[in-house]
Amino acid sequence: MDTSFPSTTIAQRLASVRNSMTAAAQAAGRDPASVTLVAVSKFHPLHSVQEALAAHQCVFGENRVQEAATKFPNLRAAHPNLRLHLIGGLQTNKAREAVRIADMIESLDRPALVDAIARAADAEGRLPDLLVEVNTGDEPQKFGVPREQADGFIRLCVQRFGASLRGLMCIPPAQQDPVPHFQLLRSMAHTHGLPVLSMGMSADFEQAIAQGATLVRVGSAIFGPRPTLA
Ligand SMILES: *Cc1c(COP(=O)(O)O)cnc(C)c1O
Repeated sequence: MDTSFPSTTIAQRLASVRNSMTAAAQAAGRDPASVTLVAVSKFHPLHSVQEALAAHQCVFGENRVQEAATKFPNLRAAHPNLRLHLIGGLQTNKAREAVRIADMIESLDRPALVDAIARAADAEGRLPDLLVEVNTGDEPQKFGVPREQADGFIRLCVQRFGASLRGLMCIPPAQQDPVPHFQLLRSMAHTHGLPVLSMGMSADFEQAIAQGATLVRVGSAIFGPRPTLA
């Protein structure tokens, strides 16, 4: 994996990530086409997104609704294949805008948010695809439904959203081996018959693919280090 910045371009880093994804899928006996790259462009400027689009990247992840709303809606006319995933913890008062702009919301984690998204979907006449975020490490400071409550919460989401509840997402604790977390997420998805597993970031997407990830969320390996927020 090429980690030298900024001497490489976004297009080159994208190519490198895609090659690593393909190799990881093949090593796991999986079809490389079964894994989708979500390019996480949070904190990066519009021109970086445009560089990635020019390199045929069409699925993007953002973790703040406001930032996503300023960067993405204007790009859709020129890029009909563009898909926007919201991957960050979501406040209920942002649910309406999230439902308006997102193709997938990856961070359902509590009943109040389920209610807010259901109301927003009625109001907007559109319902994005949805994932439940599981706090597999039960870290108090993290978003995601706690492990103990995950089964009940997933059932609630299936009742509410039917097949629009596509699967599960996790962010393993930073200092731990991510593999047991990926395995836990995969087994939960299997239990509930859910097809989508969003797991793996720049540091561990190959391991995630080996464990069955169908979406990997890769930011810094594509766009470089994130600019610090003002
Ligand atoms: C920022 C972020 C990523 C990407 O992280 P990198 O380590 O830069 O690849 C993935 N998932 C979520 C939820 C994020 O917030």
